[in-house]
Amino acid sequence: MKNNKKEVIYLDYASTTPLSNRVLEKMILYLDDSKNFGNPSSIHQYGKRVKEAIELARYKVAKFIGADPVEIIWTSGATESNNLAIKGVWEANKHKGNHIITSRIEHKSILDTCLYLQNFHGAVVTFIAPESNGIVDPEKVTKAIKEDTILISIMHVNNEVGAIQDIESIGNIAKKNKIFFHVDAAQSIGKLKINLKKLNIDLMSLSAHKLYGPKGIGCLFVKKDSNSRPLINCQIHGGGQENNLRSGTLPTHQIVGMGEAYSIIEEEFVRENDRIHKLNDILRQGLMLIEDITINSDLKQCIPHILNVSFQFIESANLLAALDDIAISSTSACTSEKLEASHVLQAMGISRDINRSAVRFSLGRYTSEDDINYTINKLREIIPILKTKSPLWKICKEL
Ligand code: PMP
Repeated sequence: MKNNKKEVIYLDYASTTPLSNRVLEKMILYLDDSKNFGNPSSIHQYGKRVKEAIELARYKVAKFIGADPVEIIWTSGATESNNLAIKGVWEANKHKGNHIITSRIEHKSILDTCLYLQNFHGAVVTFIAPESNGIVDPEKVTKAIKEDTILISIMHVNNEVGAIQDIESIGNIAKKNKIFFHVDAAQSIGKLKINLKKLNIDLMSLSAHKLYGPKGIGCLFVKKDSNSRPLINCQIHGGGQENNLRSGTLPTHQIVGMGEAYSIIEEEFVRENDRIHKLNDILRQGLMLIEDITINSDLKQCIPHILNVSFQFIESANLLAALDDIAISSTSACTSEKLEASHVLQAMGISRDINRSAVRFSLGRYTSEDDINYTINKLREIIPILKTKSPLWKICKEL
């Protein structure tokens, strides 16, 4: 069996994506052109030139999600956006209440921010457990609401299993109860349609590098409020950029890159997502032919870009080491260095053994059918070999 490309096949798009050439071309204009280096806060011609580019990018991002450009606050990525949303709402609204609702399957940038507020600032946080398919039941959100609930934060798509949350229903619940609703959309942007005009969402976190844009740039959507209630307090103080909500000189090249990445997906949305659907079907069906496999991603309410699978009896670290020409990940990239069991699978009630053998395949723009077929064949070849080396499998066989 040969990997004809002689390269490592990349199936880790949920962790990050390569930069699109079109994005790079746009970014370079703001890195090596002697006229495009100005500080966008300056009012002279150098400043004005780059400010125009930043505002165009803001418009492109806003248009893609059905927002108004003034509702887009540039940040360094979804981690910062999540921090700004949670800490910002908390600080601006703690006089009204100190209860926050989130779920147990959120990204660490939500979980740890909530824990920080709980441990150091007296917030009370309810962490809702998902159902066994990774979906947070909106009924459970309703039940968790208390008189002093000020914020609900639920992710749109889970980064480990790809589960799609019902943000429409949860948004309606939040609105009915006059509670702010924040959505971490880092993994759903470009994969699911988001029209903020039709959803009751007050804050939404986005990133560029999950969508073929540069790393280190993202934004927080902060809804314009007709009652002019203070939604969030600033967390990074300084020059007062971004309407006093996030200080710091804006990185023009990064922002232009994000704007271009969002324009591209607007053009490619249907074609790209249809193609990935087909690739997911091939991968899922191919892997199902392997013995002792458990698919942890729900068949229905899940994006096709992510497939979480456990090859029973084989620790994910051993599988990853054996796959030297295929890049996949165990649990999420942000926690895999620590080699801890996935908190998401644990929250879904998945057993420790299945959890320890879980790996995530994530597909994207440059994944080909050949890549998928190669991956299936390689796994069919090495899984039986790895299994014979597993002490657990030996015990089970003898029983
Ligand atoms: N939220 C989710 C759901 C993610 O998958 C990630 C990236 N792993 C983040 C937030 C953090 O995004 P960023 O890398 O832009 O800080």
